[in-house]
Amino acid sequence: MIPGPVEFEEEVLRALGAPSLSHTDPAFIVTFGRALQRLREVCLAPSAQPFVVSGSGTLAMEMAVANLVEPGDAALVVNTGYFSDRMAKILERHGAKVTHVRASPGDAPTVEEVKARLERGGFKVMTVTHVDTSTGVLAPVEGLVKAARALGVLSVVDGVCATAGEVFHQDAWGADVYLTASQKAVGVPPGLALVTASPQAMAAWKGRKAPVASVYSDWAEWLPIMEAYAGGKPSYFATPPVNLVSALDVSLGQILAEGMEARFSRHQRLARAFRAAWSALGLRLLPVSEAVTANTLSAVYYPEGVDASLVGRVKAEGVVIAGGLHPDLKTRYFRVGHMNRVGPGDVLVTVGAVERALLAAGHRAEAGAGLRAAESVLAAR
Ligand SMILES: *Cc1c(COP(=O)(O)O)cnc(C)c1O
Repeated sequence: MIPGPVEFEEEVLRALGAPSLSHTDPAFIVTFGRALQRLREVCLAPSAQPFVVSGSGTLAMEMAVANLVEPGDAALVVNTGYFSDRMAKILERHGAKVTHVRASPGDAPTVEEVKARLERGGFKVMTVTHVDTSTGVLAPVEGLVKAARALGVLSVVDGVCATAGEVFHQDAWGADVYLTASQKAVGVPPGLALVTASPQAMAAWKGRKAPVASVYSDWAEWLPIMEAYAGGKPSYFATPPVNLVSALDVSLGQILAEGMEARFSRHQRLARAFRAAWSALGLRLLPVSEAVTANTLSAVYYPEGVDASLVGRVKAEGVVIAGGLHPDLKTRYFRVGHMNRVGPGDVLVTVGAVERALLAAGHRAEAGAGLRAAESVLAAR
């Protein structure tokens, strides 16, 4: 129950453990082509160009920046924590002049603040972390990307802890790059960088003057490969991770079978159950309001008198959760991921384990209070 890698479905793991086909095998060509199409559907981005590349989420971030940003371009970072700082670092390395709009840890800048900044002009790109995994903060991403689109600024949305878990309509909202990694809500073991780029993003890349500063990230290398597989032909630039791509195809198929709206609302319902439990146990969340609270993970302060040893106590109760990550608050909170195949049973097992660990650590709460609160949300349909 950590915010990635998450637990994976049997069928996904079987695809990963199957014998590796040649990347030119007709069966693999079909699989890769279908996975690319399914990625578009999961991002609700029928007009986007998908890229599926060996790497982690950080490579997906770098790929977006390397292809869109030229030295001297101005970039606005909507900063909600650790992964927004990472995006800024990547932007700066690629020569961008970075401006931050920050909120205090646990909060997100408002659409109005960001819009006012963008209106002063000069920005080529705006980056947003959909869910900041360090704080559990959900950015007001719909309003942000719509504002950027209205002002002709390219938007890059880091969906690594959100894609296929949090509501996102890439085409309808006009987001230019949505990026993620395989191991979070997409439900595939670590190893894939996933990017969907709008026609506007592709046009900005085509119109650039400076060459892309990384061969491995360059869309000029990858676009012909993605187009070939989508068209039923093999092509080679760098060996595709055939087993991971097969596993991705299986997982995306399962996600689409559940349905995007059903999947988004399942994540919301489970997150509500967790929130009810934390509150019944007298715990406080990092996110400062419900509006900025993610549905894919919980970030929860340790109560008075309880420290980071709680994570080990919860593990002894049979559930793996994560400690803090935000540099300013690291030792003061824990994180519980609730993505992908998580169901009501996982909520109850996890809340039960945290509750027992808290009581053992000396926290005063009524045994069963968290479980009852979670169950009352789960039972109300
Ligand atoms: C996990 C995560 C990343 C980094 O992904 P890696 O696969 O670890 O490189 C980036 N952004 C967000 C929001 C994340 O949650």
